Amino acid sequence: MNEWASRLESSVEFYQKLPDKTCQECGKHMDEQCESYETTCASCTEKLQLAE
Ligand SMILES: [Zn+2]
Repeated sequence: MNEWASRLESSVEFYQKLPDKTCQECGKHMDEQCESYETTCASCTEKLQLAE
C-alpha cells in the first residue's frame, strides 16, 4: 500500500468513528454540521425555546 492510500484509509476510519448525531429529545438523526454544538434538532430546539 502506498502512502496516499494509507492516508486515505486513515481519513475514512476517522470519519467512521464519529458517532451518529441524534436529537436528545426525539431521537431524530441530525446532519446539521453548522450547528454541531446543538443536542436537539431544530424543531425540538424551537419547542424548548417556546416552553421557556
Ligand atoms: Zn428533536
